[in-house]
Amino acid sequence: MSFASLGLNQTLLDAVAEQGYNAPTPIQTEAIPAILEGLDVMAGAQTGTGKTAAFALPILQFLSAQTRDSSGKISVRALILTPTRELAQQVHASVVKYGAQTDLRAALVYGGASINTQIESLKAGVDIVVATPGRLIDLMYKRAVDLSQVEYMVFDEADRMLDMGFMDEIQRILKVLPSTRQTLLFSATFDDEIFKLSKALLKTPKLIEV
Ligand code: AMP
Repeated sequence: MSFASLGLNQTLLDAVAEQGYNAPTPIQTEAIPAILEGLDVMAGAQTGTGKTAAFALPILQFLSAQTRDSSGKISVRALILTPTRELAQQVHASVVKYGAQTDLRAALVYGGASINTQIESLKAGVDIVVATPGRLIDLMYKRAVDLSQVEYMVFDEADRMLDMGFMDEIQRILKVLPSTRQTLLFSATFDDEIFKLSKALLKTPKLIEV
């Protein structure tokens, strides 16, 4: 299996080659074509399996293929939620790395750091937001982030998000998202709670276990 056979465009194939990745990992082989097809995905994947590229590459491909709003306004079209600041930082760094040859902009939003700096970065206009739930809600209430144009939503390490008690926050964020969107859920473990969440979030998802 090669990256080229998964349906990625040349810019992203170059980005992958630049990272020195020779072949897709199993989660990438399964998830990338499904996401590019437009399906909601529920994937079981631990950290270290290459799950970040599995969701980031197709999202970067979709966003770079779409023209932005004709007014020149850049709106948030992809939202990636993570349970912790460290994971948000890692995912943001990966998105920036994989998207280096696109003109897409990504903001990083998490608690424990200056909210004003984050407000400024959002004001400049971003296509992608990588966030932890609590700080994202603070920014929603300050009207510093508009999620009404989100087309792609990722829950990364959803099991940890539930373990950390973020269900209320997740519900509040979901309320402001458009219902027509593509949603991707990644989780290291699957239990009743995750299935309940996935029922509320995903539309006839493709289940991927690697
Ligand atoms: P993740 O599971 O997304 O945290 O990725 C774990 C590590 O695997 C990261 O350091 C990535 O740079 C690396 N990685 C992701 N995809 C591949 C690939 N196809 N081949 C080699 N390394 C990869």
